[in-house]
Amino acid sequence: MAKVLCVLYDDPAGGQPTGYARDDLPRLDGYPGGQTLPSPAALGFTPGELLGSVSGELGLREFLEAAGHTLVVTSDKDDPGSVFDRELDDADVVISQPFWPAYLTAERIARAKNLKLAITAGIGSDHVDLDAAIEHGVTVAEVTYSNSISVAEHVVMAILALVRNYLPAHQIVLDGGWNIADCVSRSYDLEGMHVGTVAAGRIGTAVLRRLAPFGVHLHYTDKYRLPAEVEAELGLTYHPSAADMVPACDVVTINAPLHPETEGLFGDELIATMKRGAYLINTARARIADRDAIVRALESGQLAGYAGDVWFPQPAPADHPWRTMPHHGMTPHISGSSLSAQARYAAGTREILESWLAGTPIRDEYLIVDGGKLAGAGAHSYSGGVR
Ligand code: NDP
Repeated sequence: MAKVLCVLYDDPAGGQPTGYARDDLPRLDGYPGGQTLPSPAALGFTPGELLGSVSGELGLREFLEAAGHTLVVTSDKDDPGSVFDRELDDADVVISQPFWPAYLTAERIARAKNLKLAITAGIGSDHVDLDAAIEHGVTVAEVTYSNSISVAEHVVMAILALVRNYLPAHQIVLDGGWNIADCVSRSYDLEGMHVGTVAAGRIGTAVLRRLAPFGVHLHYTDKYRLPAEVEAELGLTYHPSAADMVPACDVVTINAPLHPETEGLFGDELIATMKRGAYLINTARARIADRDAIVRALESGQLAGYAGDVWFPQPAPADHPWRTMPHHGMTPHISGSSLSAQARYAAGTREILESWLAGTPIRDEYLIVDGGKLAGAGAHSYSGGVR
């Protein structure tokens, strides 16, 4: 029987909701490109419920306990002596979400003698030391595509919020004010701007597709070019590197995984080559940007705005400078954890568990590390080097 250790974010301050703003979720037929939605044998939840918090348990308890397995769920994850740290020693499976990552360091993986499977309920497994997972034969899997469109929607929202100066204008309303000049003195139209994405994978391409109708000029850089018909359809300009792309852009959005090639990419040097007053949106991973370089660029006006939802570490400390820097549109790490996304990645997590517990193969597109090497989606996304 397996012990499954699940690290989830805290419940809402007022407790787990008893009702929701909407009665159902739209029905999707599949993902763009044809990948099928998660297909577990059954669901232990009603789609639309809050599943990513401790009481939501990703809807897994009944399924696991009915089969005699143990499920431990906690949000207490960071300190030595935390529930996660204590329970890890004999856990067979660890599940966590990138929004509230259980950092599976090399030291923790070495200590977790029973650990065989680490599941990311979502996308992005950089909170797992993949080299250590490879060394110790731990399988790493994530629910590829489950929240890609959720993030792409957040990116489009953040771009519009920054360019239109939405958040300060909303704050003026909350404060009882009406000073239109204060609202509009930093407000522009997106139309006609040059917008570029660093990486055109699932999220990056979805962002490009969603922005095309805004009448913008679209740019991208990626390790591989998109098919010529996609470039033609969306009117894309390809750049061989971020360094080549960013001087041409008014808005840059980062949609690449964190690995050694991308870590610290947006530092003082690259930011200095951007147009003065460019906007930078990062929903990928915080450490792709240099924390203090972002603050300096906003203070000097080199960047007109920065938005996203990824921080390091997570949760961000109360004195993290990105909370108080000027002209930002940061949120906690939420873009991939809408109720819609939760339903998909909770179902995908169950699908992965069902396969693993039955000894049948996990879908190739969900695999990051398997059999002591990068595998599936991981062999593709993390081939620039694991971390
Ligand atoms: P994909 O794997 O579909 O796309 C990643 C793309 O990045 C691939 O096209 C890859 O290129 C490209 N890439 C890798 N390295 C580089 C590089 N050095 N320069 C340019 N391009 C590069 O992943 P997704 O689009 O689904 O997700 C992207 C990232 O977004 C995730 O890794 C994760 O960190 C983050 N994310 C954030 C979420 C949130 O809630 N904020 C939720 C989900 C994901 P190629 O394939 O050509 O090798």
